[in-house]
Amino acid sequence: MSTSQELKARKAAAVANGVSTRGIYVARAQNAELWDVEGRRYIDFAAGIAVLNTGHRHPRVMAAVAQQAECFAHTCFHVSPYESYVRLAERLNALAPGDFAKKSVFLSSGAEAVENAIKIARYHTKRSAVIAFSGGFHGRTLLTMALTGKVMPYKRGFGPFPAEVYHAQFPNPYRGITTAEALADLDRLFHGDVDPKSVAAILIEPVQGEGGFNVAPFEFLRALRRICDEHGIVLIADEVQGGIARTGRMFSIEHSGVIPDLITVAKGLGGGLPLSGVTGRASIMDAAHPGGLGGTYGGNPLCIAAAHAVLDVIESEGLCARAEHVGQRMRSRLESLAAQLPCIGDVRGLGAMVAFELVKDPKSKTADAELTAAILARAEQRGLILLSCGTEANVVRLLAPLTIEDAVLEEGLDLLAASIKDASGVESKRDAA
Ligand code: PLP
Repeated sequence: MSTSQELKARKAAAVANGVSTRGIYVARAQNAELWDVEGRRYIDFAAGIAVLNTGHRHPRVMAAVAQQAECFAHTCFHVSPYESYVRLAERLNALAPGDFAKKSVFLSSGAEAVENAIKIARYHTKRSAVIAFSGGFHGRTLLTMALTGKVMPYKRGFGPFPAEVYHAQFPNPYRGITTAEALADLDRLFHGDVDPKSVAAILIEPVQGEGGFNVAPFEFLRALRRICDEHGIVLIADEVQGGIARTGRMFSIEHSGVIPDLITVAKGLGGGLPLSGVTGRASIMDAAHPGGLGGTYGGNPLCIAAAHAVLDVIESEGLCARAEHVGQRMRSRLESLAAQLPCIGDVRGLGAMVAFELVKDPKSKTADAELTAAILARAEQRGLILLSCGTEANVVRLLAPLTIEDAVLEEGLDLLAASIKDASGVESKRDAA
């Protein structure tokens, strides 16, 4: 097999420039560890960007996919439907919050789920406008790019975008944007830009992913629910990154007690296979005419089999409780580091969706994207895979599989601490925390 260096050169020659990659070419992976083509071991705190909540190649997920492959791999649900799709819809309808009848549709990517949620909301309300939030990320298709509130690398050069998409401020207590200010911004939008009676949907990530793991204050989510009820707007929770047990609940919005009308899911649902979905109020989900929703691959049987196994594993291995445990270990380590290192301006998150923000100094809170990149590079050298996020690329997010063994988690946190100290110029021995 080629070396990483050779593969990098081949990638540069053969793969479109817009497809960015990190440096590690993987040969195999298991749970929270992976090995590159040169046999180097890494601890994986990226989990394929919040996909592998059940870890790499969970045996039950792999067995379910293999078993399904023995029967049929694809028919297209619209042509020759199958029971497992219907049963997964029943399971998600039961799991999603809200004491009312629900229905689901399955697709392949997170962006497709968001696109479909907007289509459904527009059809139901017979309105066209959509409100999303600053710093939000919803995908790379034309509509989801428009909904995304982060220019680089997602929007620059790709316009013009679909009309009737508006952005309001997402609260950010660390940066001084209170719930009251964010609500005032929404009010400004309603008075200056768009009539609330023309708004089909408000789309929000209860915990922003790419935007920097900003947790929406629960009072803000409750206020959005009231506004949606007042104006007949569909409230959509984008749970693509925060859902499927990541935050300690099946859906992150459950922490707030707010019941959205529609929920989008993807990533963790397929345990590594591409599956997404929209689940919500039957009266809204049923609005569109037959044939208006779906796609060739949406709810592919291999992916559906994986999702059943993922839901079984979450239940049988208690992964919601495990997310709290993993998150607490991460948070307590980061908080003690933050007490020593002024470059860590904020530690935040929900459950095992934990991040820390890097600043040049705690007073000015100027974003330190260079230090963030240096921490990621040092971590990679030490054998730890990390991801950054945030509109200013100055947040490091931790997304270890929820199934990570305690010893591997602690080892990863040791590597993280050493990498932060190294990159920030504070002396550190290789394994010191
Ligand atoms: N919505 C959220 C909250 C996401 O985090 C993402 C991806 O990171 C998406 C939508 C888009 O998902 P996908 O990349 O599968 O299209």
